[in-house]
Amino acid sequence: METSSSELLVIGGGPVGLSLALGLAQRGHGVKLLDAGPDPRQLKTPPPARSTALMPLSLETLTDLGAWPRVAHMSQPLDKLRLIDDQADRWTNPVIEVFSADEITDTPFGSNIINTDLTAALLDLADDTDGLSLHYDSAVESWKPGEVTLADGVVMTGDLIFDCAGRHSPVPAQAGIAIKDHRPNQIALVCQIEHSIDHDNISTEFQRREGPLTTVPLPRSDRDKPRSAIVWVHRPENAEKLGDLDDDAFQKTLQSALRGVLGEITGMRARGGFKVGTQIAETFHGPQLALVGETAHVLPPLGAQGLNSSFADVAVLLSLFDHPSKVADPDMLRRYGAKRRSDVISRLTATHFLNQAIQNDRLGLDHARRGALKSLGWLKPVRHGLMRAGMRPFGVG
Ligand SMILES: Cc1cc2nc3c(=O)[nH]c(=O)nc-3n(C[C@H](O)[C@H](O)[C@H](O)COP(=O)(O)OP(=O)(O)OC[C@H]3O[C@@H](n4cnc5c(N)ncnc54)[C@H](O)[C@@H]3O)c2cc1C
Repeated sequence: METSSSELLVIGGGPVGLSLALGLAQRGHGVKLLDAGPDPRQLKTPPPARSTALMPLSLETLTDLGAWPRVAHMSQPLDKLRLIDDQADRWTNPVIEVFSADEITDTPFGSNIINTDLTAALLDLADDTDGLSLHYDSAVESWKPGEVTLADGVVMTGDLIFDCAGRHSPVPAQAGIAIKDHRPNQIALVCQIEHSIDHDNISTEFQRREGPLTTVPLPRSDRDKPRSAIVWVHRPENAEKLGDLDDDAFQKTLQSALRGVLGEITGMRARGGFKVGTQIAETFHGPQLALVGETAHVLPPLGAQGLNSSFADVAVLLSLFDHPSKVADPDMLRRYGAKRRSDVISRLTATHFLNQAIQNDRLGLDHARRGALKSLGWLKPVRHGLMRAGMRPFGVG
């Protein structure tokens, strides 16, 4: 059996694993990154072009790594968030509330970028980073403290193992870490649209009983048209019906649901669908092991918290392991777990509560929710506190 030794192992080469591996190598650690899939640069058909709205802390982390300056020009700033309570019936008008980043800060809420553009920049940077090696077609099948075995039988050892492989990682179960899994039974349909009216850097979220419909600004298209990403959450039966529609019919249905906020849809691409679920590990660390990103927590695509929470994990780990000597400190992983789990729990609770309040059709709750949204118009301390909490995780920086 072939055995290879490294100081640190990172499992998973998505944006989270790549960022963590880069940051650790930049701090002088020797790092091997293992990914089950092929090298994304060799793919003939790229994965569906999903985009992610990144908040200031994620942008700071990517800037510190040297990645953001390489892709900032491919992103679109988010200056305003417009919430539309879309449960209006014939007796009530929809409640609309617009939150503007300049109420609390002189920077945008965040920036939206196509995931594959971000990954490409991280891979470019990895090529220029000493001490980091990338191993593709290397699926981790089993784990024990300080050691993983790949599907082809190769054993790799590391003083610490950082698992960024996501919700299907085999490692937490093998480490005896239970995962609490909650499936709200929703599907997120995604696509990119070109439209006739400029988005003015406004992201709009229609709060609908079935699940939110969100538009997120993107840079102009190749045809120099205003462009936005769409995330449209449905119950599975309706998602399936919409998924079966041809592009023309789907576009018409979406056009009507958007109530003209982006004018007319003039083009559409990159249709796809993702299961929405929430998940949290009972602890984010084990012996010589850290669970990072979606291995530790999965959040629904409400309020753009998913990847941002994962980048907060990366930021905390990089601040704790800022020198190779820290690897020997047994308290570091416990501190990471304690810092990050409490923030994730508060975010999961908030998104779960919001989801339930929107889905529930009891009249009293509907009134209470609309009242709460309206009151955010004048309750400035609460309004600004919520805006700040959405932009910046607790326990970081
Ligand atoms: C519709 C939708 C919209 C979203 N919008 C936002 C948003 O606006 N803002 C936001 O912050 N988040 C958003 N998210 C969440 C965000 O997209 C994810 O958190 C992010 O893409 C996950 O990145 P990652 O690096 O953690 O994992 P991935 O990109 O999934 O990478 C995991 C890697 O691990 C590898 N792997 C898996 N198993 C193994 C194994 N056994 N051994 C070795 N390697 C393995 C895989 O090959 C893969 O490359 C959204 C999610 C959805 C579904």
